[in-house]
This record gives sequence, structure tokens and C-alpha cells, in this order.
Amino acid sequence: MSWRGILVIGEVRSGAIQPATMELTAKARVLADADGSKVTTLLMFDDIVSDPKECIGYGADTVVFACAPAFGLFNQDIQYRTVVHLIEKIRPAIVLASATSAGRTIMPAAAAVIGTGLTADCTGLEIDPENGDLLQTRPAIGGNVMATIRTSDHRPQMATVRPRTFPIPDPDQKRKGKAERLDVPPEILQSRVLPMGIEIQEGEGSNIQDMDVVVSGGKGMARTESFGMLHELASLLGGGIGASRAAVDNRWIGYPHQVGLSGKAVSPKVYIAAGISGSVQHLAGIQTAGYIVAVNKDPDASIFRVADLALCGDLFEIVPKMIEAVKRETEK
Ligand SMILES: Cc1cc2nc3c(=O)[nH]c(=O)nc-3n(C[C@H](O)[C@H](O)[C@H](O)COP(=O)(O)OP(=O)(O)OC[C@H]3O[C@@H](n4cnc5c(N)ncnc54)[C@H](O)[C@@H]3O)c2cc1C
Repeated sequence: MSWRGILVIGEVRSGAIQPATMELTAKARVLADADGSKVTTLLMFDDIVSDPKECIGYGADTVVFACAPAFGLFNQDIQYRTVVHLIEKIRPAIVLASATSAGRTIMPAAAAVIGTGLTADCTGLEIDPENGDLLQTRPAIGGNVMATIRTSDHRPQMATVRPRTFPIPDPDQKRKGKAERLDVPPEILQSRVLPMGIEIQEGEGSNIQDMDVVVSGGKGMARTESFGMLHELASLLGGGIGASRAAVDNRWIGYPHQVGLSGKAVSPKVYIAAGISGSVQHLAGIQTAGYIVAVNKDPDASIFRVADLALCGDLFEIVPKMIEAVKRETEK
């Protein structure tokens, strides 16, 4: 049987399908349409809260779902072996997963067992019209160049994709597809690893990747206490707090807030950057942000090249004025 079609490894938390699954399923649909092949989405549940068929509207032809208590607390051992089991069964030409902590752990183990390549943290995926290879683009050399990688000699072609890289379309409620239960052999569901529990890190509880407004601070914030005004602005706008790596490295705010190449990619409707210069590594995390507001005292700051609204001046004067303006608007 030849390698054909695309397998998306879905992301499930507490029985609910995560938006990253819809994002990748929709992208897989676009890629599969290039050669008329099929998209399969795999979901591993301990308790089915979301309807697996939801993925069909985003482009899946088949949703394969496995259900077992062993999928409750994340166990890399069990999940990667389930993925390998399905790959051997359906032989997809391409396997995609989100570059979340789960995807970043499952995919390398699966690729190593199968003996194929894996491109991690892609920000672009295309099909080569000449030969059908998957063109896997990702930042390289500290984000200063974009490298396009192909897996010419092995199958499947495996890639993880940074969440929020591609837009999530509205589902097509009329799309037809099927949901099939996967019987996972009992030996796969046994593991020497015993997950004890999950502890939510400070800042991880409210995920900025799911927010419509993100207010970020950089090195220009100068100290931890200054983030108080960003918290106030963010809470007035119903948003969350982001940060540059410089702010995180200075320990003014925790790593879960970091936006950029080595942090999170965010896709809010409004992104406010205060005291952030706009390095390529930071901009890699806001590629799909809607409207960018930048506050910086340097008129030549790179952030102004991508900003929709450039506010040049001292952030310690401008941010309090923004807070007052939002308060005035909300009181009307
Ligand atoms: C492999 C690699 C991965 C990386 N990953 C990331 C990442 O995920 N995210 C990330 O952010 N960076 C990342 N970086 C670091 C990146 O290169 C920059 O060093 C970092 O983004 C700089 O942060 P910054 O803009 O806050 O600081 P700076 O570049 O120092 O900029 C501070 C800005 O604040 C302005 N400013 C200062 N005071 C005020 C004031 N009072 N009012 C208004 N403006 C003021 C200044 O004009 C300046 O533009 C990475 C680097 C590498 C090599």
C-alpha cells in the first residue's frame, strides 16, 4: 500500500478538542486538495466531551478517535505508540501535529520509531507542485532566515506546526465525513511511566493564545512593577498579558507570557506592544495578529514597521493615557 493522504494528530484536553486541531485540520484540507487525497484527524480521549465529528466541518474526511482512561493525563509513551499504530495502519504521506508540548514530545518519538524525518516548529507548509513533496518552512539561525525543508527519501513526511500560524476558518456544517473508533491494542495502553498530576504554572491558566487582546511589555518596561499598568489595560480590554524575551529574562514576568520564536505565537484581534523594539524573533510570534499598536520612544524602532498604530513617546506617559481613554469609552 502506498503512502497517501494526511494524518493530523489532534489535541484534546479534558475531553475537549482544542482549537489547534481545527487549525491543522483546515490547513491539511488545503494541502490535500492539491492532489485530491484524504485528511484523517486522530483524537485521543479519556472522556469524550467534544463531538469528534466537529473536525469534519474543518476539512477532515475521517475522524479516528480512541477512547481509554490511559489518555487522561498526558503520557507520551502511550500517545506516541498510538500514533505509530495508526500510521502503520493507514500509511499517510504526511503527518502533522501542533508544536505544543504534547506535539513536540509525541512526534519526535514516533518519527524515530518509524525511521523518518521530522521538521519541528514550522510556520509555513506548501505542496511542491512538481513532485508532491511537503515543503516545510521554519525559522532557522535564530530566526534570521527561513529554511524550507523536504523529506524526499522517507515517508511519512512529519512536521509540527506552531499553533496560531494558520487562520481557523468557520466550519462548513454541510461537509460530509465519517467518525471511526480506533481499537488500540492493550499493550500500547500500558506504560512504565505513571503521570502523577498536572500543575498549572503562573500565567498558564489564562492562555494568551486564545485571547482577542494581548498587551505585551518589553525591556522598556524597566521593572516588574511597571507591568501593573499593562495588567490594568489588559483587564479593561478583556485581554491577557504578553512579554518579550528580554522582559522574561529579567524575571519581570513568567515564561508562559513570552511571545515570539521561543515563546508563544499569538493571534489576537489587537496586539499592544509597549517598550518592545520588534526583533525578528518577537515578530515571529505576532505574524497573524490583527491590529498592532506599538508604543516606543525610538522613532526608528523596527516594531513601527509592522504597527498599524505607531505611538512614539514615553510609555510611562502613553500607557496611563490609554487606560484613561479606555475608561472614558467604557463609562459612556
Ligand atoms: C534563538 C532566539 C530566540 C528568541 N526568541 C525570542 C522570543 O520568543 N521572543 C522575544 O521577544 N525575543 C526573542 N529573542 C530575543 C530577541 O532577539 C530580542 O533580544 C528581544 O526580543 C528584545 O526584547 P525587547 O524588544 O523587549 O528589548 P529591546 O530590544 O532592548 O527593546 C526595548 C525597546 O524599548 C524601548 N523603550 C525603552 N524605554 C522606553 C520608554 N520609556 N518608553 C517607550 N519605549 C521605550 C526602546 O526604544 C526599545 O525599542 C530570541 C533570540 C534568539 C537568538
